[in-house]
Amino acid sequence: MTEDSRYTPYMQASAKLRVHDADCTACQPNEPEQRCESGAGLYERFARLQNVYLQRLKDRT
Ligand SMILES: [Zn+2]
Repeated sequence: MTEDSRYTPYMQASAKLRVHDADCTACQPNEPEQRCESGAGLYERFARLQNVYLQRLKDRT
């Protein structure tokens, strides 16, 4: 498992979430509780991949 194989899905999820936030008036980027159904799904995926990615960095040190 290379670093890239974790980093890329995380970056993709981050980019998708940002695109959604730019278009969606229901979502509040700074308040994870305040999201539409679609935004909540994107955020959940982003948060999960971010945790995996950060954990990976920690394990390397
Ligand atoms: Zn939304």
